[in-house]
Amino acid sequence: MTMTNSPLKLDTSLPTNAEPSPDEESGFDVIYPPEQSLIDACVHCGFCLPTCPSYRVIGKENDSPRGRIYLMDAINKGEAPLSLASVKHFDTCLGCLACTTACPSGVQYDKLIANVRPQIQRNHPRSLPEKALRQLIFPYFPILIVSVFCLHPWLCTKSLVSQS
Ligand code: SF4
Ligand code: SF4
Repeated sequence: MTMTNSPLKLDTSLPTNAEPSPDEESGFDVIYPPEQSLIDACVHCGFCLPTCPSYRVIGKENDSPRGRIYLMDAINKGEAPLSLASVKHFDTCLGCLACTTACPSGVQYDKLIANVRPQIQRNHPRSLPEKALRQLIFPYFPILIVSVFCLHPWLCTKSLVSQS
């Protein structure tokens, strides 16, 4: 994967051991920002929108694949910050990748969002309650998923047996 020559947006005014305030806004850093060539592959046709669960529930362009690609483009070009407002639209992406199969232009949204998540992790300070919640949930999330998948056939069988 190549690094783009998008403008540097590192906040060099912060001491290295200081935690930035949540109000401060940055952009993508130089460590694998979303590739501009992948962003440019989107022709904004909107075919992916009906397949996107976050768009279907929230109903806003910025919570659609196309809207997020617009946001990545703007942040890459230094036209928008990696602010709380933009991060919340990336956070609402479920990573289901239904949009990639629906896209007639073959936009590799999976690679784009995979590059954006670590950028947010590095460059966007989360509030303490949000950090605590994430640290509480995410380590156990795979275990919960596996448990649900493991228990599901057992629960189904049990309910069928009890009905017969
Ligand atoms: S991601 Fe694909 S389907 Fe969605 S707007 Fe862009 S080109 Fe169209
Ligand atoms: S991966 Fe994200 S943008 Fe694509 S369909 Fe799923 S929720 Fe929508």
